[in-house]
Amino acid sequence: MPDVLTCSQCGAPLPVEQGRQFVTCQFCQAENFVDKRQAVLHYAVRDTLGAESATAALRRWMAGNDTIKGLDQSARITEVAFQLFPMWLVRTEQKGVETVVLEPGAALTVTELMELTIPASAMEPYDHTLDGQAIEPTVPLDTVYKWLGENHKIPQAAVQEVSLVHVPLFLAKYEHAGRGYTAVVDASNGRVFANVFPSKWEAPYQAIGILAFIAYFCAALIPYIGYANSGEEGIILGLGAYAVACVVLAIPIFALAAYVSHKV
Ligand SMILES: [Zn+2]
Repeated sequence: MPDVLTCSQCGAPLPVEQGRQFVTCQFCQAENFVDKRQAVLHYAVRDTLGAESATAALRRWMAGNDTIKGLDQSARITEVAFQLFPMWLVRTEQKGVETVVLEPGAALTVTELMELTIPASAMEPYDHTLDGQAIEPTVPLDTVYKWLGENHKIPQAAVQEVSLVHVPLFLAKYEHAGRGYTAVVDASNGRVFANVFPSKWEAPYQAIGILAFIAYFCAALIPYIGYANSGEEGIILGLGAYAVACVVLAIPIFALAAYVSHKV
């Protein structure tokens, strides 16, 4: 381990003391983040959404197809708070194939945030005026390397570059039917992340499926009944009746499904 930490951009020595810190290189002005004995470049993604636009994005998501119908009307948004969330961005290369892996730098409130994407063009050098809103990373790089091996089967030797990226987010809390929920709005593009939310009720669809199965099973018995009653002639009549029954049965089943789909 070298005693002198160097800037991950220009290689100049960094004026670093013990522990992890945010350090600006005196030579190239690059923002470095120091984790134990390693310095990595430190970026922030610029936020383009204010709290109002983020709330509007949340309402649109609530009105969308993932959530229960009318959630945008019935939910009460209680809090929309801005924060810069730390993510470790790891560029790896194995057999000529480059992969970018994102790992959380702090405890995730919404695990769906793992699906976050960070376009390289949106990354800017971290600015210390952001310190007040930035959540300090609590996941050390050693843990990130361990996750790479365990979850992605990527050895540490394949790591080309590691950066710390502070991502702008709105943490939103809302209530629906007496329960509290949390969602996260990406403040750079308005994408909404949530793992638990009032979702569409699946039971009515299952009930319709069972009903349809029973109805068609009964209809399929018609030719047998025809045969039992009047032999071969009965089969032909029964098959004709069966064909008609299949078409007729489809109407109420589709109508019911459409009704349920409209309701929930
Ligand atoms: Zn430098």
